Formats: sequence, C-alpha cells, structure tokens
Amino acid sequence: MHVLVLGAGQLARMMSLAGAPLNIEISAFDVNSENIVHPLTQTVLGHGLENAIAQADVITAEFEHIPHDVLDVCEKSGKFLPSTEAIKAGGDRRIEKALLDDSQVKNANYYIINNREDFDAAIAHVKLPMVLKSALGGYDGKGQWRLKSLDCVESIWQEMAECIAATPTQAIVAEAFIPFNREVSLVGARAKDGSVSVYPLAENIHTDGVLSLSTAIDDLELQSQAKQMFTAIANRLDYVGVLALEFFDVNGQLLVNEIAPRVHNSGHWTQQGAETCQFENHLRAVCGLPLGCTKLVRPTAMINILGEDSVPDALLSTEGCHVHWYGKEKRAGRKMGHINVCAQSTTDLQHTLSALAEVLDKAVYPAIHELAKSVN
Ligand code: AMP
Repeated sequence: MHVLVLGAGQLARMMSLAGAPLNIEISAFDVNSENIVHPLTQTVLGHGLENAIAQADVITAEFEHIPHDVLDVCEKSGKFLPSTEAIKAGGDRRIEKALLDDSQVKNANYYIINNREDFDAAIAHVKLPMVLKSALGGYDGKGQWRLKSLDCVESIWQEMAECIAATPTQAIVAEAFIPFNREVSLVGARAKDGSVSVYPLAENIHTDGVLSLSTAIDDLELQSQAKQMFTAIANRLDYVGVLALEFFDVNGQLLVNEIAPRVHNSGHWTQQGAETCQFENHLRAVCGLPLGCTKLVRPTAMINILGEDSVPDALLSTEGCHVHWYGKEKRAGRKMGHINVCAQSTTDLQHTLSALAEVLDKAVYPAIHELAKSVN
C-alpha cells in the first residue's frame, strides 16, 4: 500500500514510522514547496501532485489548512480520505460550528462577525465575556482575542478589522467564554464499515495556547459523553480515519471546543500507552484494514518539547521515558519533539512526572513544574 499524505511535518513522519511494519509506505506532499518528499528524511522524491496522486493507493492529510485547489484534485481522484468536507470543517471555524450544531453536540454559543454591526450583534447575542477567534488560519491560540469589558470593544475591533481585511474570506467567530474546570480531548478512529473505536480521554494542559502536557485519564462518565459526541460527528461526516475532538469539561459536562480531522498532538501518548497507536489506526482506517485495539496498556502521559533540540541524559535514563524527535531545525517555541512517560500505575506516573521537574528546565516545561508543586 502506498499512502500520500498532504503535509510533510511530524504527523506524516510518525505515520511513516507506524506504517512500516504493515508494509504501508508513505510519501508526503509539502504544500509550501509543492514537492513530494520522504516524510523521514525530507528527501525530494518528485514535484507537483499529478504523478503522486496517480501512484498513490490512498491520499490523506496531516493538517487542515490545505489550499482548496489541492483538496479538489485529491477529492476528484476518488482516493482521498477522510473527505474534503471534514478537512474544511477543521480549517474553518464557521463550518466547524455548523457541523457541531448539525451533529447536535453541545458547544459554546456563538455568532459570526463579518463587520462592525455584526460585532455589536455578537455582543448582544453571546454576551461578555467572550472569546473571538479568526474563522480561518488560527491554531494553537493564535488569531484570538478576549473581550471582558465594553471599554475594549474599539481597540479589539481595530485588530479584528485588520485580520478580516488581510484574507478575502476571513471572518471572526465570537464565542461565549466557557468557565471550564479542565480541557480534555478524545482521539478515535472510524473505519470504512462505520465501526468506531476510541482511545481513553486525555487531559490537556496548555501553556500560552500551546499543548504542553497530555495525560490519558480513566473517567467512565466523561468517556461515555465524549464517545457519544465523537460517534455523532464521525457518522455525520461518514468519516474514515482518526479524528480528534477537544472538549471543555464544565463540572462533568463536556462541550466540544474544536475538532481536528486528523491524528492529533493529544494522541501522541498512544505510541507507548495504547495497544495500537493513533498513527497506525489512521493508516488502518484509510487503507480499509480492520482497526487495531485502542485500549490503554499502561498509564501514560505526553510532554511536548517546545523550542529545544536536546533533553538531559537523566531523562533518557529514566524508566518509562521515550523521546520522539521530529528532525526539525530549532526555533523558539517550535514543536520539536515529545516525551512519552509510562508507568505501572497512575500514582507511579504522577511520581515519575514530578521527578522529571528536577531534570527539565522550568522555562521550557512549566506544566511539569506546576504538577510537581501540586504532587509534593
Ligand atoms: P482553540 O484554538 O479554540 O483551541 O483555543 C485555544 C485555547 O483558548 C483553548 O485551549 C482554551 O484554553 C481557550 N479557549 C478557547 N475557546 C474558549 C472559550 N470559548 N472559553 C474559554 N476558553 C477558551
């Protein structure tokens, strides 16, 4: 089997590593250079989509911000999974919100803003405090504003107007601010035959809008709510592949924040913590193979490595720690790799994570230091 992945970043790289034992070969389309590259070495294998589409058995995507002309030719080939509709829902908050409503899953009240009058209507409809998000192009908390008081309306409008003017089809989605207790996410897969298999929920800690720590959790009630919403959305899209849902947990009631129509950073823990990792399951789904078991095999957490290209030897020699590098050039704040940390019990996992605060820099790994403070 030969799978062409749209996008040539770490997610395509990890699909390639997971596909090898199944004889699934991956090549990646770099949407910026339009080169076809090897996802591990970045060696250029060709240029342009046409040949690559002809040679691929299946085409999939590792991210949602893909030019629509690229999506269109892939869809036309009849080989693209999940679907253009799913990718567009992940890349445009207007489509995403309509999908959530259509699937009848709980989400924050919202209003779409195209001009200054809409902004006033949004304030009346959604009420303060609110979170304002660009419909297109925003991720990891970028392209967002918080409006807490009417004093800030004009200054925020100036910035939003610039954002709307910069991209022809841009708009802003105003959302009610949700006073959540924590953020969790569900990663799961839907196969061609419609069967669904989900991983245990992960609890996610973000620092400055970027995921820093993700821990698989065991909560039957939340798991059942999350699976029901996952199934509703995946069925509505006739989805094939791995899909991730991010939620706000408000006193035990989940609201969907956003969807990612792809393998997801909060599912990287499955490489060490689940029977079949998310990358393998995505490939199984899109290649028409049966899904692999998604059960937790041991308590596991994932720590993102942001802006660093080395870890202390003490971490590598800590039992249960597994480092995954992405082979990227070092840049401040960039996702460079991640560390999966496993243990025999959740108590042991908490201890190992808090012990890592002694070897990991507080500026780079604030979530680990916070956790260490709360455990000690
Ligand atoms: P997003 O890009 O939508 O995932 O937003 C980035 C982060 O902003 C989320 O992980 C939340 O911590 C926060 N956030 C987003 N939307 C809301 C909301 N409606 N209410 C409260 N916090 C939010």
